[in-house]
Amino acid sequence: MKILVLNCGSSSVKYQFMDIEKTYVLAKGMVSRIGMSGAMHAYKPHDRPEVTTTGEILDHIMAVEHVITMLLSPNHGVIKDKSEIDAVGHRVVHGGEAFPDSVLIDNDVMQVLRDCIELAPLHNPHNIRGITACFQLLPGIPQVAVFDTAFHLKMPPYAYIYGIPYVLYKRYGIRRYGFHGTSHFYVSRRAAKMMNRPIEELNIITCHLGNGASMSAVKGGISIDTSMGFTPLEGLLMGTRSGDLDPAIILHVMAREELSLNEANTMLNKHSGLQGISGISGDMRDIIKEADKGNTNSQLALDVYCYRIRKYIGSYAAVLGGLDALVFTAGIGENSPLVRKKCCENLDFLGIRVDDEKNNQAKGPQTDEIQTDDSKTKVFRVPTNEELVIALDTKRVVEEGMERKKMVKGV
Ligand code: AMP
Repeated sequence: MKILVLNCGSSSVKYQFMDIEKTYVLAKGMVSRIGMSGAMHAYKPHDRPEVTTTGEILDHIMAVEHVITMLLSPNHGVIKDKSEIDAVGHRVVHGGEAFPDSVLIDNDVMQVLRDCIELAPLHNPHNIRGITACFQLLPGIPQVAVFDTAFHLKMPPYAYIYGIPYVLYKRYGIRRYGFHGTSHFYVSRRAAKMMNRPIEELNIITCHLGNGASMSAVKGGISIDTSMGFTPLEGLLMGTRSGDLDPAIILHVMAREELSLNEANTMLNKHSGLQGISGISGDMRDIIKEADKGNTNSQLALDVYCYRIRKYIGSYAAVLGGLDALVFTAGIGENSPLVRKKCCENLDFLGIRVDDEKNNQAKGPQTDEIQTDDSKTKVFRVPTNEELVIALDTKRVVEEGMERKKMVKGV
């Protein structure tokens, strides 16, 4: 089965085209600057060099059209006919409480996705645009929505209810949802596989440390708590997002600086985090470089970043009632030995001991174990693969749909 995995953002479409039986990426790429000048499409077939094209790409329909054109291109393509695309899997950021699992998209599902826009106004509209584009350009080809929120939907109420009037949960769905679900799901399974033990008997903490960052407490394969909340703003310090803070700060700063709602939103999402504390950059590579040169605010940003992760490790070990494995993933988690080391400092009491040499050498596409030989808790560096989870889920949902159809027809 050949599956196109799409991740549609406000001005970009990232994609992978996979042969799922062979777990093989046939082609991948990204259309960027959609609707702006200098729109670009970078496309890489698995067996030939990358091709970059520029042109007018006004909307997501044109972007998906570009993707299909390249997949079919006589020189660069990997298929001869559109019908070779068996299904499309879409990353959808927010499924609210309606979708505890991935789902085959039909008109009813589209309506619920539209209802979820209120919960994720910055993300869901673009995901919906991508789906609409595919319905138009690939009619009859099944499409599946895979949600960032779904993996966290089994959290117990005491982990997802906030300490505000309960009626606000009922009225507006204000609760912890959590994000990066496909990544937390994937890396926790990888860790269990590496340990050669069933996930059902393991307590695992997963740290997805990218531009956006979140952690999850995974008990027996289920996310029982996670650091992102109603929106992807809560929890860890991030590139440009604040993470946890006293909610009264927002009211105070809005009053003192006479900020509008929009301005306060921008401050918390775009001018905070590593960027806000360092005043230099939201990119961890810059922060580490500047801290190395002796820049005190960059050092402070790095210290706050790692301290908060350590704090979450402690609290998640408590809610899990023990810890078998700690997992680092995404841009920073996969690539920064310094951050991994700092996050694990003084965690001996949890059985966490990092081996400096293994940690420094860990890189590349494979999973690495970076704990010392006498560490009771395993520490992994796992390259995440959200696209693979989306493709596998798409295959499962499409096949289940076909089975149901067969049963209805009595075949
Ligand atoms: P992602 O959102 O997963 O692509 O991750 C982006 C983040 O990973 C950015 O903050 C980058 O600075 C960070 N990153 C990538 N490579 C490295 C590295 N070698 N060391 C530290 N941070 C890195």
